[in-house]
This record gives sequence, structure tokens and C-alpha cells, in this order.
Amino acid sequence: MLVSGKEILKIAHERNFAIPAFNAGSGQLLEGVMRACENLNSPVIIAIHPDELSFLTDSFVDQVKYYANNTTLPVCIHLDHGATFEQVIHAIQLGFTSVMIDASHMDFEDNIEISKKVVEAAHAVDVSVEAELGTIGDTGDSIEGGVTEIIYTDPEVAKEFVTRTNVDSLAVAVGTAHGLYPENMKPKLKLELIDQIAEKIDVPLVLHGGSSNPDEEIKVAVTKGINKINISSDIKIAFYEQMKVVMENDRKELREPNVIFPSCIEATQKVAEEKINLFNSADKAKYYYK
Ligand SMILES: [Zn+2]
Repeated sequence: MLVSGKEILKIAHERNFAIPAFNAGSGQLLEGVMRACENLNSPVIIAIHPDELSFLTDSFVDQVKYYANNTTLPVCIHLDHGATFEQVIHAIQLGFTSVMIDASHMDFEDNIEISKKVVEAAHAVDVSVEAELGTIGDTGDSIEGGVTEIIYTDPEVAKEFVTRTNVDSLAVAVGTAHGLYPENMKPKLKLELIDQIAEKIDVPLVLHGGSSNPDEEIKVAVTKGINKINISSDIKIAFYEQMKVVMENDRKELREPNVIFPSCIEATQKVAEEKINLFNSADKAKYYYK
């Protein structure tokens, strides 16, 4: 069943777990993560970044909707890092049930202004809005971008931002970076900062750049008010590592997608299942049925 971001996050917020938001950059990745969620009875957010959408074309959203309408699992279709008002409206028109407006690189008042405008438009048609405050780092190899130096979210400022914009969830900068970390860069979450932010505001918090942070940290973050964790790099790497194995080992002439992709989909599923268990989201779909 297709649900909004607000609906899917509400129960995670009440019950202290995190919904996995997997970037479905292709139909094969979508299939892999949906199998994992079915297998573990997990609610799921299918995230699509504007760059992914322009590659996949708008028709892909209908494919995600098909999955959502043919499963009993709660499924939310989310625009990841919407950069402009136009991108957000386009996504709403296509049937996304949740949008992110990321104006975190703008100054505070401008971020508030555009986030507020998006909230007004999206809420008019029951679409939920995620905004971002502070700047999440960028390791230099991701489409989501970011900055090389993390500016941590200030709890007081977060409170003002949420009150003034009325956003449904907030992406916070607490020490993660988009993409994979180079060997000399050790990711470290400021766990106490999550506590401080969660104390001030009551909307679900979102963790971006959650790939390759230590599992132990992620596990603790989930108990502290992080209710959505974005996973992009980790599933894509599993997929392409397996694809390399297929290309190297298979002596036959390779051309059929149904020969090349099946084990890659399985590799995606495996990593997605690990994340679902880590986020404590397994078997949580049952809480969404009235
Ligand atoms: Zn992100």
C-alpha cells in the first residue's frame, strides 16, 4: 500500500526504529530491495534522486507505484534531495508521496522561505516534506553532493526551523557524509547531538550518508530519534561487485539481462536485509494495519 512520508515515519517515531530509504537507481535495485522488505516484512521508502529520475525517466515512478499497490507493506515514494520548487512540483505531479527540499546550502532565512513554500504546496495534496539543516559531508563520489566539511545541526536553530516551516521530518548533520569514505577518513557520529536535537523537536529525524558508518553507531542512533536512514552507496556497490563477478566468470557470450542481473539482484537483497535488521525495521509492517 502506498503511504505518505508522514504516515510511514509516525509509527517508526513512536516505536523507535528507522525506515530504510533505499535509492532505487534502476529497476533491478528496486526489485532487490522490495524482495528484502517482503522477506522481512519491513516498511520501506523508495527514494529517487532527481538525477536518477532523469536517467530512469518519469515512467519509472509508475513501476514503483505498481509495487506499492501490489504489496501489503507500507511503501512511500520519496524525492531525494529536491533542489528546486519546480523539481518538487514535478515529483508531486508524478505521484511521489514524500519530497525532500534540500536548501541546506542556502542561508538560514532562504532555506526557511523555500522549505515553507514547498510545505504549503505539498501539504495541500497530502504529500510530506523533508528538509535539511546543517550540511552533510561529501566524500566526493556521490550524486547527492554535500560539502567537504560538515556543519553540524544546531538544536536551537533546528527548533526554530521546524516551527517556522512546519516540515514533517528533518535531515540533520550529525557527522555522516554522502558516498563512501576514503580509507583515511573515519566517520564518526555525534550521538549526543542526536539526543540534543530530538529533545528540542518532535518531528522524525533523518540520517543521510548512512553508508559505511559502523553498525554499532547506527544501531544507537536509531534508538535516539533517527527514524529514516538513507542507503544508496551500499546497495549499489553490492550490485556492481556482483556484476563484475558475473562478467569475469561467465565464459558465455553475455548479453541477456536475465542472465547478467539475477545474482546482482540477490546481492542487493542481501545488503538491504542487513540494513533492515540493523535499523530494527524487520517485522514492523504489522503496526501499519488497523
Ligand atoms: Zn542525502
